Amino acid sequence: MIVGLFGPPGCGKGTQARYLVQKYGMVHLSAGDVLRAEAKTGSALGQKLQSFMSTGGLLSDDIIVDIMESKITENLSNHILLDGFPRSIGQMSFCMEYIKRVDGLTMSMICLEVDADKLVERIAGRRVCKRCGATYGALHGADVACDVCGSKDFEKRADDSVDTFMSRMDEYRKTTLPMIESAAGMLKIDGDAAPEIVSARLCEILDDLIK
Ligand code: AMP
Repeated sequence: MIVGLFGPPGCGKGTQARYLVQKYGMVHLSAGDVLRAEAKTGSALGQKLQSFMSTGGLLSDDIIVDIMESKITENLSNHILLDGFPRSIGQMSFCMEYIKRVDGLTMSMICLEVDADKLVERIAGRRVCKRCGATYGALHGADVACDVCGSKDFEKRADDSVDTFMSRMDEYRKTTLPMIESAAGMLKIDGDAAPEIVSARLCEILDDLIK
C-alpha cells in the first residue's frame, strides 16, 4: 500500500511522516530527502539538483518521476509513505498509472491543510539533522538529540530562506494545489492543530487502512 502525504511547505509533513513511519514500520520516501541525498554525493546530477532546489522551483516531471519510480519499485514489499511526491498533475498521472500496473497496489492520499500565514514562521524555526536528514519543525532545548539517529548536530536547510519559501509557495499554489483539488478521494485534515492532534487524526486514518 502507498500512502501519500500532501500539504504546503512547512505544514509539518516531515514531522508527521517520521512519527507514522516509526509507529507503522512504513518506508518513508521523501522526494526532497532523496534529492538532497543525491546532492550531498557531489555527483554531476547532485550539483545540478542542489542549484535547482535553492531556487524553490520544481524539477521537471520526467526527472523526478524517473528517480521516484525506482525508489518506489525498490520498496514495494513494504507499505510506503510518500512525502513530497507527486506534486503536479503530471506526477499524479504517473502514480495512477503505476498503481494500475502493480497487482493489488493501492494509494491513499491525505492532505494537511495549514493557514498560509503560519507557514513562514514554521519555516524559520525548521532544522535538519546533519547526519540523517530528519526534519524538525522546531527544536526545544539546548541539548536535543535527533530521535532517528541520536546526533545532536543540526543545521538550517539551505532552501529555508524567506525568498525561497515564497517561490516554493508560489509553485505550490500554481502546480500542486490544482493536483490536490482534482485528486479523487483526497482526505483533508486540519494541519493547524497541535502536532499530537494531527498525529492522532492521521493514526485514525491509518489504523483503518492497515488492518
Ligand atoms: P521538499 O524537501 O519536499 O520541500 O523539497 C525540496 C525541493 O526539492 C523542492 O523545492 C523542489 O525543488 C525539489 N522537489 C521535491 N519534490 C519534488 C517533486 N515532487 N517534483 C519536483 N521537484 C521536487
